[in-house]
Amino acid sequence: MQLPWLATACDTLRRARAGGRFPAALLIHEQSGSGGAWLALYAARTALCRAAGAPCGQCDDCRRVAADTHPDLLRVGPTEESKQIRVEQVRELCAELALTSHGAGATVAIIDPAEAMNANAANALLKTLEEPRPGATLVLVTAAPSRLPATVRSRCQRLSAPAPARAACLAWLEEEGGKRDWEAVLDLIGNAPLEALRVDVEALAKLRADSARALDEVARGTLDIPGACERWVKGGDYELRLACLENWLTVRLDRAARAAGQNPQMRGTAHLPSGRSPLNMKTLVRALDQLYQLRQLGSTSINKALALEQLLWELAPRVVPGSRRAGSGS
Ligand SMILES: [Zn+2]
Repeated sequence: MQLPWLATACDTLRRARAGGRFPAALLIHEQSGSGGAWLALYAARTALCRAAGAPCGQCDDCRRVAADTHPDLLRVGPTEESKQIRVEQVRELCAELALTSHGAGATVAIIDPAEAMNANAANALLKTLEEPRPGATLVLVTAAPSRLPATVRSRCQRLSAPAPARAACLAWLEEEGGKRDWEAVLDLIGNAPLEALRVDVEALAKLRADSARALDEVARGTLDIPGACERWVKGGDYELRLACLENWLTVRLDRAARAAGQNPQMRGTAHLPSGRSPLNMKTLVRALDQLYQLRQLGSTSINKALALEQLLWELAPRVVPGSRRAGSGS
């Protein structure tokens, strides 16, 4: 598989290898879904391949890296239960990296995602970073470099794995995955081509339609909000549901903005022109803001269903005698 948007990064690695200055520590900063893991493996092939113009893609080393069976390629990720990379894993990795390689030359260790290391685990890397064995390369992959200690970051050579532009992303997806509604997929998950390729496009379209239907019902005041939130959280696609919600809010904000622009009377209040829809810009913006907060709290132990419920109540009409929509925050 070729990832054209990473061509510059690949070129940097090849030139470093050819010039005999392949880094001892590499920090790959990826945009989520842009191919950080792929670039880490490319770095491994570049370091381990012994052909001139490495990586050749043909030799035993290159093939074994591709098959994930190379004895001098070590990989560490979060454990199933803790979702963290533990200090013992890092110590073990560093001990192995300090030994001479099975083959004639290099050893590569990949830690992905590096931000899954807890503080102790990250600190356990320092000795290896300070006194690397010649030929050993440590590769850290992360979408959030700021979550790594500065002492670790400063000892690594930084390599960026940027996301492609939307058009390039769509062209690549069509080539790799055939003609599908990739535009709709990217609307939900962002310009994350590798993630898009793993998505079940039909299931995602269904999820999006189902979420939109539910949110329309919220706005009409006909949805069982607590029940729906419970289902969304337990369904295993919470993040995607939030993306659907963001989409739904953005579309309405856009509509509200256009309506306000077209109707001079709307400019003062920025209310939607339709009397049937009680959602105004303020409510929509507030809901978007809450959504971003909810995302940031996603990995903590907050009660997701309850937080989501609060957000959806914001979008529901509040009928008070004598007022069509009271408490909308004037
Ligand atoms: Zn090779």
